[in-house]
Amino acid sequence: MIFVGQSDIISNAGATMTLYAPTMKELMLCATHAHTAIPGFNIPYLPMMEPVVQALRDTRCFGLIMVARLEWVKFAAGSLRTIYDAYQQAKDEQYTRLHLDHVPVIDEDQLAVEYDKIILEAVEMGYDSVMIDASRLPLRENIAATRHVVKIAHAANVAVEAELGAVLGHESGPLPPYEVLFETGKGFTDSEEAEIFVRETGVDWLSVAVGSVHGAISASARRAKKVEARISIDRLDAIRRKTGVPLVLHGGTGIRKECLLDAIRHGIAKINIATAIRQPYEAMMEEAPKEAEAAVYHATRTIIEDELELTNSVDLINPGTVQD
Ligand SMILES: [Zn+2]
Repeated sequence: MIFVGQSDIISNAGATMTLYAPTMKELMLCATHAHTAIPGFNIPYLPMMEPVVQALRDTRCFGLIMVARLEWVKFAAGSLRTIYDAYQQAKDEQYTRLHLDHVPVIDEDQLAVEYDKIILEAVEMGYDSVMIDASRLPLRENIAATRHVVKIAHAANVAVEAELGAVLGHESGPLPPYEVLFETGKGFTDSEEAEIFVRETGVDWLSVAVGSVHGAISASARRAKKVEARISIDRLDAIRRKTGVPLVLHGGTGIRKECLLDAIRHGIAKINIATAIRQPYEAMMEEAPKEAEAAVYHATRTIIEDELELTNSVDLINPGTVQD
């Protein structure tokens, strides 16, 4: 069944109000059916949150505020709780939801993480959706860990994203030359495996490796310019046909615009953006914190309006929660 944006109509002294706030699962299905996408913005520093929400509201774009584990471990997001509390202050539920991004089973330094504890905490706190990342594990182990998380989250009606294939870039070592990576398809998601993975885990959305790379996060490489990435549309089509779930593109910064728009037309319903708003903030945060926030606002607007062409997407995804 496709969610159409209205339910639970109640009558109150003659006025009719729609009080239904759609879940993230429903919002992603809306985006998929409308052939549009929901941008997710990573918040490694708490003061970046307000300008991102403001930019979403001003462009009438529906988007996600996101935090990944590495953003409270290696950056300054604080904790699951500090992000959640800041979000309660900043949120605008017509335009935003809160997503827990990458909780790895094995992290970028090859250390084991108590992933299920973190995810349970987020679900209980009220995060709208969560991501388990067991993509560094072999297929069977990825399926087992993902299924375990799906059970925890679905019990609270919270949607789960998982990753199959490896979107490279967070590791500290250098990446192979990009063209070699693309031609060989090293680490890219296999459509047959994706079909098995989605069927056996019950996951709601799948993060796929189809050509994008993550921005470097090690202290020495954080400021480096990202390589220009492309997308394998054939592979994306094959994965979409086999899985039937909304697909997610990580490493959204630095991909050619025509590739991004093509990817949205071919089933990408969520695009993660981190480097493009983090680097302008970091460039100024020490000397001029207010200007740094303004830089985040402008970078976010540029991505929405010029790169992704998602102005007014709220009309397609979450067209209003209260009507008289
Ligand atoms: Zn990612």
